[in-house]
Amino acid sequence: MARYTGPVCRLCRRHGEKLFLKGERCFTPKCAFERRPNPPGPRPARRRKISDRGLQLREKQRARASYGVLEKQFVRYYKEAIRRPGVSGENLVRLLETRLDNIVYRLGFADSRAQARQIVRHGLIAVNGKKLDIPSAHLKEGDTVSFTPRGQRSEFFKILQENIKSKNPPTWLSLDLASMTGKVTAPPAVIPGETHLFNENVIIEYYSR
Ligand code: SF4
Repeated sequence: MARYTGPVCRLCRRHGEKLFLKGERCFTPKCAFERRPNPPGPRPARRRKISDRGLQLREKQRARASYGVLEKQFVRYYKEAIRRPGVSGENLVRLLETRLDNIVYRLGFADSRAQARQIVRHGLIAVNGKKLDIPSAHLKEGDTVSFTPRGQRSEFFKILQENIKSKNPPTWLSLDLASMTGKVTAPPAVIPGETHLFNENVIIEYYSR
């Protein structure tokens, strides 16, 4: 599955806020947004007023950047979100949150979604005891996430075991530190500002025009 491979700090500078795409580095003075919060590229001669459509587009791009999802896949999520019963915006957030790479990140198995994606692709993660190397796979209530035998032998796993105690998974996930196994215990909670940093309803409006 394709993914964005360009410079990620540039995305934060483009969106004018920290998107926390680089794990620990985002919390240090090395953060590019802390050092240069201005948009990337040459400074425009004058600031233009952004239209409503422009603001909606910006919100959508911010969501895509946060979860590392390309446009084609994001449109699929939108279509699925409006097809499902309930509030479409919340459905969209739940679809993004139940991706395997996001759950690996939320459990604290990785510092960023990009790193989570990488360890999934490298075959270190198992779902319900079986290796699953598709970062976009959707998990449901009751599914468990652990490390494959290969994952448990890796250097990454040893370092993680020492550091994971400081991480707190969200309420809809549980984590057993002894076996390093996470479980989806409920549908993802949708709490703006906590679960996600974008307005999901604006994104639905953007696509429904
Ligand atoms: Fe964004 Fe993190 Fe890069 Fe800072 S270090 S600009 S928060 S991705």
